[in-house]
Amino acid sequence: MKNFTQLQELLSTPKDILITSHRNPDGDAVGSSLALMHFLKANFHTVYVSFPSAFPDNFAWMEGTEDVLIYDVKVKKVNKIIDNVDLVFALDYNGLDRIDKLGDYIAKSNVPVAMIDHHLHPKDFSQFTLSDPSASSTCELVFDFIRKMDKKTPLDIKIGECLYTGILTDTGSFSYSVSPKLFKISAKLLEAGVDANKIQMLVFNSLPEKNLKLLGYCLNKRMELIPELKTGIITLTKKDYEDFDIQRGDTEGIVNYLLMLKEVHIAAFVTEQPKIVKLSLRSKGDFAVNEIVSAHFKGGGHKNAAGGASYSGLKSTVNKLKKILTENFAGTSFKSIEKKA
Ligand code: 5GP
Ligand code: MN
Repeated sequence: MKNFTQLQELLSTPKDILITSHRNPDGDAVGSSLALMHFLKANFHTVYVSFPSAFPDNFAWMEGTEDVLIYDVKVKKVNKIIDNVDLVFALDYNGLDRIDKLGDYIAKSNVPVAMIDHHLHPKDFSQFTLSDPSASSTCELVFDFIRKMDKKTPLDIKIGECLYTGILTDTGSFSYSVSPKLFKISAKLLEAGVDANKIQMLVFNSLPEKNLKLLGYCLNKRMELIPELKTGIITLTKKDYEDFDIQRGDTEGIVNYLLMLKEVHIAAFVTEQPKIVKLSLRSKGDFAVNEIVSAHFKGGGHKNAAGGASYSGLKSTVNKLKKILTENFAGTSFKSIEKKA
């Protein structure tokens, strides 16, 4: 970690701290933020947590969620906190532009920032930085950070539950980004008392009926396969959002179903939002979808999971994506992913 000793020094006396994570927080964002909050509180700091937008209901069971401040609805309160804190943690995002107006306010405030993140190409905005794109999740890195800060105290079970949740969701239930180190950390979380089966139930087996119906609709009515591009695309319109009463988080994970098809190496989930069209891309093997979104859709992410946005309509966005895939990635790139997969 860059400047770890200085950070340790800063945290050696009680401080006021704000922990932030990205818009549309996922299990890793919520889990890493709350785990770090519990750890810092146990070390006598005053800690606040804020996300730009709300998190899905299946993470509400985690201890501490009731105190999370959603910036979209608590702008003034959070701005006042930023004005007064000694340190801001930036978890699970690699640039202040990923948290919109909350990021603008933090940038203006000149408060020191400590980033812990596993996304590629971190921007230079933090004084203290733990960035490792080879890590499965930010929760894995928060585990390392906590252990580095305090080698002796046994891990609290509520910290363990939060960290396990982020690891479980960001690895797709231990299917990608796994490593011997990750399994060792996971074993330590279980030894600390985490009930893996309970968390599996709470996070994945607690969907409302409408979500399963939405998934069925996406696969049956909204899926387009393009064999020559080894691509599958699912699109949702504004009307679909109304018909299915889709809220933030309800579409999480749908894009991954496309990769279950042997012939699909690139998966796209393209949705019409109130002001923008959002793209979620996934891939198998060496095909770097973050390069597509960073070059063409103002986005970013990881090699095999990335997202971005478009300001043209749904149909023209899908056509643009198809054109990009056809022009730039046919030929060599596809041969290399065929060999790998
Ligand atoms: P998702 O497709 O689940 O929204 O996001 C997949 C990955 O891409 C996440 O790691 C997320 O951080 C990243 N990502 C999603 N949307 C954006 C975006 O608009 N900009 C950037 N830079 N990264 C994004
Ligand atoms: Mn993550």
